[in-house]
Amino acid sequence: MFGLSKIESGVGGIALTEHAVPDAGPGEIRLKVAAAGICGTDMQIYHWAPRMARRMALPRILGHEVSGVIDQLGDGVEDLAIGDHVSLESHIFCGTCDPCRRDRAHLCEATQYPGIDIDGAFADYVVVPARIAWRNPAELPHEIAAMLEPFGIAVHACLEGSGVADLRVLINGCGPIGLMAVAAARALGARQVIAADPNALRRNQAEQMGADYSFNPVAVDLAAAVGDVTGQVGVDVAIEFSGQEAGFRAAMASLTKGGDFRLVGAPAHPMELDLTQWLLRCPTIINIHGRRIWRTWEQSTELVYNNKVDLVPVMSHQLPLAEGARGFELILQGEALKPILVPNG
Ligand SMILES: [Zn+2]
Ligand SMILES: [Zn+2]
Repeated sequence: MFGLSKIESGVGGIALTEHAVPDAGPGEIRLKVAAAGICGTDMQIYHWAPRMARRMALPRILGHEVSGVIDQLGDGVEDLAIGDHVSLESHIFCGTCDPCRRDRAHLCEATQYPGIDIDGAFADYVVVPARIAWRNPAELPHEIAAMLEPFGIAVHACLEGSGVADLRVLINGCGPIGLMAVAAARALGARQVIAADPNALRRNQAEQMGADYSFNPVAVDLAAAVGDVTGQVGVDVAIEFSGQEAGFRAAMASLTKGGDFRLVGAPAHPMELDLTQWLLRCPTIINIHGRRIWRTWEQSTELVYNNKVDLVPVMSHQLPLAEGARGFELILQGEALKPILVPNG
């Protein structure tokens, strides 16, 4: 079979590689991959970012946002069947560490990822532990099913802390997950959804997915613009996806006193935080990592299965696996939101 792999360290080094079809071992399943999305983590691997990428053994088949059909069951797998359509939770949790035992498997101390620690889903087949499989109705389109993993982050971000229902919400950063958060916040009953992104295409997309307003935080003072559309009150919830220090500060400054600040985008560098301001303004700061397993999957699939959220606009390209490297280039050139790779079969 073919795989799209990171073959060498440093920037780039993405190439099609040939492999034997893997077999499912005890407790594992093999998926015939139907669709797999390229995401920000894959771009970090492309750029050989210090945090996750450099622990990888190369070559490694990439891809962790996947939909497929089970075509082989390893020994001891009981709750799944050949022919089941599944998406994958990308966190391979250990199930035995302290967070796992406290129903916080998304914070597992020993988390491993397909496409980083084991071969991933940019391939004709992928083998993973059965415990990360989420079964979908067979009629759910595979491209949608492949986006449930990133969508889960958006839903998780919307439902932590005070949630979003009947609240004013700022989504700062409208990449794929930010856009999904716009749609999720709208579907979950936000009173007002304000989106911010420097890219005009993304702002336009945010408005199409349910934002009441969208602002360019480079061209305007975001906190002032948010003030203007909230009666100078500010938002109850600011969800920060941009990962930029300026974005972090603008989102924080857009909050009403005692609002919720939810951090999803990881800033690349340490930054100063004025704890006196924090004390005086009293925001609740919440970090969002992955998805609650399986609570977030239940919540996010309820929205997708019942057509309350349409993820199709986030999928900007569908490419055959053999042209997968082009998906990375399209993202680099700012021309793609979420390219979905489809094996040739
Ligand atoms: Zn991802
Ligand atoms: Zn664990």
